[in-house]
Amino acid sequence: MKLKNSYFVTYKENVKDEEAISGNLLVRGGFIKKNSAGVYMYLPLGFKVLKKIEAIVRDEMNAAASQEVLMPSLIPEDVYIASGRRHLFGSSMFAFKDRFDRSVVLGPTHEELFAVAASAHIKSYKNLPLSLYQFQTKFRDEPRPRFGVIRVREFIMKDAYTFDKDLDGLQKNYDAMVKAYIQSFDKMGLHYRIVKADTGVMGGLLSEEFQAITDIGEDTIVFCQSCDYSANLEIAKRQPSEFVSPAPAKQYSKLHTPNLKTIEQLCNAYNLEPKSLVKTLVYMIDEKLVAVSVCGHREVSSVKLQKYFNASSVELATPAQLVEANIQMGYIGPVDCPIPLLVDEEVLSLTSMMTGANEVDMHFVNVSLLDFSQHDIADVSMVHKHDGCPVCHAPLDIQKGIEVGNTFKLGDKYSKAMNLYYSDETNSLKPVIMGSYGIGLGRCMAAIVEQHHREKGIVWPIHVAPYEVGLLVVSTKDEYAMLKANEVYESLQANKVDVVLDDRDERVGVKFNDAELIGIPFQVVFGKALTHNQVELKNMYDQSTTLVDLNDLTNTLTQLIKQQKENIHG
Ligand code: ATP
Ligand code: MG
Repeated sequence: MKLKNSYFVTYKENVKDEEAISGNLLVRGGFIKKNSAGVYMYLPLGFKVLKKIEAIVRDEMNAAASQEVLMPSLIPEDVYIASGRRHLFGSSMFAFKDRFDRSVVLGPTHEELFAVAASAHIKSYKNLPLSLYQFQTKFRDEPRPRFGVIRVREFIMKDAYTFDKDLDGLQKNYDAMVKAYIQSFDKMGLHYRIVKADTGVMGGLLSEEFQAITDIGEDTIVFCQSCDYSANLEIAKRQPSEFVSPAPAKQYSKLHTPNLKTIEQLCNAYNLEPKSLVKTLVYMIDEKLVAVSVCGHREVSSVKLQKYFNASSVELATPAQLVEANIQMGYIGPVDCPIPLLVDEEVLSLTSMMTGANEVDMHFVNVSLLDFSQHDIADVSMVHKHDGCPVCHAPLDIQKGIEVGNTFKLGDKYSKAMNLYYSDETNSLKPVIMGSYGIGLGRCMAAIVEQHHREKGIVWPIHVAPYEVGLLVVSTKDEYAMLKANEVYESLQANKVDVVLDDRDERVGVKFNDAELIGIPFQVVFGKALTHNQVELKNMYDQSTTLVDLNDLTNTLTQLIKQQKENIHG
């Protein structure tokens, strides 16, 4: 590529409405352009990187013996009603009527359609296993599109689906997909963790997320510093606390606590540890109010609640809902609790505690578990850093991550809903066992930038760099320099190097800045040293600059690129 007559646009200044580094650098470098909230254009540079990411994933999918297909985006709403997911997606689904008044949606994920497609092929056990994938645009009306292309409303996903006769078969396909994911993300240069996660609207037996580690990640990952335990905070467990025998019942007394509503205020006033208090929160769970008591230093995990109640919606109760139910906001407690009560397991490690007294400005002290209203007990609170690992008891740690990929063991949920059965060796009909596997291409691109940048620009890992080599001519008026640069350009192309020649009539400073902003790993400067038949070679990975003889340049560059490609964490 030669820049002079190509689409190429960069901005010196930070972009105002891009809060993430990746969004900012990608817009400034002319990779992407925002079109509306959560919807972006991919310009030539961005499209090139996206295609490189796609090629990496496609190679791995093919190596895992998956076959590529392409499903429609425009899908009759009935398909998602049949699987029971229409109401789960709710307003995050783009839904409308066509001219014949039929309800259609834009697909947010394709488990249902792949089950339908597979049913045309799968009749008996002889047609299994099967693995299919696609690269296709997904639509999700996200409530908070943000962080550039990390959370958007329209994005290309690689989604794959596997079909097996039993759980053993699923395990083999699942392992092959996980291996393909590991190889893909390694090649992209991402640093990530594989974590256990909630199955969410996908349902099924198991979900594992590939989380790219970065501070701006919207997910919180819990991992053990000693063993390989790791899980999304939403479902992470900790070493169970030791249960103690509760203090005798009915020893508690009422304490007047004016203006002391929060745990912090109470702890300061009475010199207590948050751990020794019990706080009670009220949730609206599928239209029923439930009180949830946890130790004062914990937060409640709404995902754990959702799983425990098998609920489709879990929200903190609103002040209006509390007033309607005659509940004193900030003072509800587990003794004589006016609504059904769920108690977090950890509370069983307290002998006597302070709790709300269901009355304004009042708390109880010396409460025993035996004083609590009738209740259920479950693990519904969130883990903290330094809690013990549930497996080996070593301290847990916490990081932020961006979910770049997700793998699911679905089981028979969709095959039963979409009528995908096969006849086994004894001729009896069985549901096909499915798995599904997603990677967001744009989100990968942004996560790579979050992990690989410097102050002045992106440092693309070699496999996803828009160009491997940039040729910068200091003065385009210098005919000899232009001649040599063009010769090198031809020679690199002949050696299959992805090269760009900056032949624009721009000041050299502009060219340097642009090359650094868009992240060209190897930059060759055709300037003064040409009088000695030499050029300057800048290696953006180790930030070195060396003089190279023109005759050795192609060879030097192909070697450097080869080494960098072999060292895939580039
Ligand atoms: P999130 O929890 O971040 O909303 P999800 O769990 O709903 O994502 P999946 O249904 O697992 O997403 O989709 C598979 C992959 O598609 C994700 O791992 C991610 O890479 C990508 N993806 C999902 N939602 C978005 C989005 N709104 N914008 C960009 N990429 C997305
Ligand atoms: Mg997911």
